[in-house]
Amino acid sequence: MTTKPADAAARATVYGYPRQGPDRELKKAVEGYWKGRVTAGALRGTAAELRRANWRQLAGAGIDEVPTGDFSLYDHVLDTSVMVGAIPARHRAAVAADPLDGYFAMARGTRDVAPLEMTKWFDTNYHYLVPELGPDTVFAPDPVKQLVELAEALALGLTPRPVLVGPVTYLLLAKPAPGAPADFEPLSLLDRLLPVYAAVLAGLRAAGAEWVQLDEPALVQDRDAAELDAAARAYHMLGSLAERPKLLVASYFDRLGEALPVLAEAPVEGLALDFTGPAAGNLDDLAAVGGLPGKRLVAGVVDGRNIWAADLRKALATLGTLLGPADRVDVAASCSLLHVPLDATAETDLDPQVLPWLAFARQKTAEIATLAAGLSRGAEAVAGELAANRAALDSRAASPLTRDPAVRARTAAVTDADARRAQPYAERAAAQRARLRLPLLPTTTIGSFPQTGDLRAARADLRAGRIDTAGYEERMRDAVREVIAFQERTGLDVLVHGEPERNDMVQYFAEQLTGYLATRHGWVQSYGTRYVRPPILAGDISRPGPMTVRWTSYAQSLTDRPVKGMLTGPVTMLAWSFVRDDQPLGDTARQVALALRDEVEDLEAAGTAVIQVDEPALRETLPLRTADRPAYLAWATGAFRLTTGGVRADTQVHTHMCYAEFGDIVQAIDDLDADVISLEAARSHMQVAHELAAHGYPREAGPGVYDIHSPRVPGADEAARLLRTGLEAIPAERLWVNPDCGLKTRGWPEARASLENLVAAARAVRAELDDRPAPGARR
Ligand code: GLN
Ligand code: ZN
Repeated sequence: MTTKPADAAARATVYGYPRQGPDRELKKAVEGYWKGRVTAGALRGTAAELRRANWRQLAGAGIDEVPTGDFSLYDHVLDTSVMVGAIPARHRAAVAADPLDGYFAMARGTRDVAPLEMTKWFDTNYHYLVPELGPDTVFAPDPVKQLVELAEALALGLTPRPVLVGPVTYLLLAKPAPGAPADFEPLSLLDRLLPVYAAVLAGLRAAGAEWVQLDEPALVQDRDAAELDAAARAYHMLGSLAERPKLLVASYFDRLGEALPVLAEAPVEGLALDFTGPAAGNLDDLAAVGGLPGKRLVAGVVDGRNIWAADLRKALATLGTLLGPADRVDVAASCSLLHVPLDATAETDLDPQVLPWLAFARQKTAEIATLAAGLSRGAEAVAGELAANRAALDSRAASPLTRDPAVRARTAAVTDADARRAQPYAERAAAQRARLRLPLLPTTTIGSFPQTGDLRAARADLRAGRIDTAGYEERMRDAVREVIAFQERTGLDVLVHGEPERNDMVQYFAEQLTGYLATRHGWVQSYGTRYVRPPILAGDISRPGPMTVRWTSYAQSLTDRPVKGMLTGPVTMLAWSFVRDDQPLGDTARQVALALRDEVEDLEAAGTAVIQVDEPALRETLPLRTADRPAYLAWATGAFRLTTGGVRADTQVHTHMCYAEFGDIVQAIDDLDADVISLEAARSHMQVAHELAAHGYPREAGPGVYDIHSPRVPGADEAARLLRTGLEAIPAERLWVNPDCGLKTRGWPEARASLENLVAAARAVRAELDDRPAPGARR
């Protein structure tokens, strides 16, 4: 391996660090502030203390250059909106009255004004607040937060590198403000925005920042010529400023592709590139552009989004090949460590044998430091670390947890026929009509009913040992009885048991499958003060026994109407977990699908006539580059069909997805071959019904007529109007009536009233239809 002279020693760095603190102190402080129990001063103090603790931890682990400005009280894209003065008109009064309260008003809304919209940060589970921009937006620099955090890190004697969302990504993430023309393109504001960035950069330089990082992850997506031109103009302008720090333009989550030559030619001093997962293509692309002569390359060789220990020898080899093309190579994680939990050593409940396989944020910083040392001084200098790493990787590879011969044999024996229903849809539909005897426009719900305080208290009592499993299950059965009685009384046609026993739709199954690990402290920020603890899909997946059958069967024992079995689909089981990185995702999905297939079979054997397999994550894990999508959709839809393909013709398979914009995957939705699909549609006025029709979707569909994201109760007239709109696209024989999504976040009063109105709407519209009952229908 090539080594460099000591004066060009590779440096270790990261782009961002988990914000919450070891005990989620940030969540407690922010929520305490909202409730009036924590003063603004105390909140700021906690935040500053957490930042200092993070920097000390980073420096202690051997990170040479620490990020600043990545910390946030809520979201870093919202912080960027504040930094450039893009405060929506409706929030200006609140911000003027009190910047901190105004900030939270933008994030969460107030009684009088709506918050900014929230959406997913690329293909992660982190949600950012969408900037709202219009032709009238006036930008103005507000660098206070950046300057404060820079000063804090300098005061600790560290080398800080402020991290900002780059101007191109900021604009590409924005949407037209209310009142702006619908075709308004935020990117058209670039020339107005750049002087604001110039001012912030000059301020940071004057305050002592040698380097500033500008994050441009939007450039790893397919970008057209105008967008690439915008990137070229932006970095030409910023690079040509007289008073500025050195600029490091960072990309992550995928390869830069067409944007690489643009940035390589830009007058900036450094690029940060991801070399993990789908972004590994950056290696060849870099060679193709002739490297980055004269520039610093920060190489993201440690996966910043997953929790596995890196293969240090492999990473070191990648770094070695990069030494040629750039003037100087530094070592980093592929992206901000925001997306992984803080510290694996906090997981004292995990099998000690498993612990060395894992690298959370803290462990990753040690890996990065080791790699930087190995790159500078040669592999011999880190021989001890490399040997320990090899031992951990070997133990993982050889563990019975990761390799279960029975699972492997079964997965290998899967045939195409397993993933296909035996009968064509028309035949299935006839068999299901005969068995279910549903009316036209059948009514149903998506699965969960309100997760009340009582239910959560029962779970807490169980955890604390105040009740035993039998006592807990009795309380869950009480809830099922209440849900079934309500649905019968209200006149719903296909019932659900209400999912009271499920804490979370992925975790519930993960806890019952072999091959999954659970963490106790593995919190990852989802948005604002909301954190999730994704389970770890570590090994070969099998199902020791039925997971849901007793709940569905109990519910079915209480009623003559069909009760839906309710499962989380394989794609969603992967998407909301940390997945193993030692085999293709499609292989992992197939294992999960086979375990779920057994559950489907058991439900069917227990007499369940309708089985719903939810896949709300199908679209969000769509690869960022369109070229990679067909392969993903092939394994994803294949896994769904493997889960559901074994059922009889008269067992009705439902699926559910909660999004309204699904144009780019409508073919994949069709490929699932589910008999019935429910989708979110209320807010978009049934637009999905028209999109399904335009595609020629041949099966049954339930575009939602009740927006469950709001406590508002839709009137029966309103639901009926939406239904009539749906009927313009989907014939009555194939149209279902249901809410947009599950009701778990709703309270009983509004859920009750809304479902009563939904049933009334279905009855009213049925009466308007001609007098032809579906064969054998109950009316
Ligand atoms: N069956 C689940 C529920 O009703 C579906 C949730 C979801 O789509 N996210 O809660
Ligand atoms: Zn949903």
